[in-house]
Amino acid sequence: MANNLRVVIAAAGKGSRMKSTTNKQYMLLNSRPVLTYSLDFFEKLEVVNEIVIVTSEQELNYCESEIVKPYKYKKVAAVIPGGKERQDSVWAGLQKLSSDTDLVAVHDGARPLLSVKVFYRLLEGAQEWGAAVPGITSKDTIKAVDRDDFVRQTLDRTNVYAIQTPQVFKYEELMEAYRQSYEENFRGTDDASLFEYFIGRVKVVEGDYNNIKITTPEDMLIAEALLKG
Ligand code: C5P
Repeated sequence: MANNLRVVIAAAGKGSRMKSTTNKQYMLLNSRPVLTYSLDFFEKLEVVNEIVIVTSEQELNYCESEIVKPYKYKKVAAVIPGGKERQDSVWAGLQKLSSDTDLVAVHDGARPLLSVKVFYRLLEGAQEWGAAVPGITSKDTIKAVDRDDFVRQTLDRTNVYAIQTPQVFKYEELMEAYRQSYEENFRGTDDASLFEYFIGRVKVVEGDYNNIKITTPEDMLIAEALLKG
């Protein structure tokens, strides 16, 4: 296994679709903030030895005093301010990690339901291929449409994946992808897009349907039900 496996948790989003004034990462899920589920997961995993949390400027103090201190997270090396878009937040976090990092896992703070099994699949994948992401196939038929919403094509859903986090990479290679993306003004919606564009192939491993991203109020109910189950 990797010597220095470190984690960046992106938790600086506004989450406007939640229709709440509280950042979704700090909303209570079964009476604990959403973010603590990911933090517990990585804190308990022996292979991880450092975590950087990226949150909004206004929530830095809150995150320190209401999350990191009371929950006694020992691996959290820094809580730092994020940027305008997710990519900017992750870039801030990546630069804060110790330079001897071998592998980095980048995770959305809004995904509380991580799975150890999936995480080990990702580690193996990243060690072998340099980059690995969890993917799930669609249970529904997938269609591509034109500008007027008429079906252009029905896609073969067996080779189309919805991609989740954590996404795991060789640290130096992801850093290089990020550096180049800022030089060339390239934007991607996840970390793997940058790696694909500038570095090389990304391996998709089997993800987990329960690993939902809290996006709308209903997702909190679904997450509660999944936790109970
Ligand atoms: O907004 P969305 O749910 O797609 O964001 C995915 C993750 O990226 C969330 O955990 C969110 O907090 C984070 N994010 C961030 N900085 C931003 C925007 C989103 O850390 N500027």
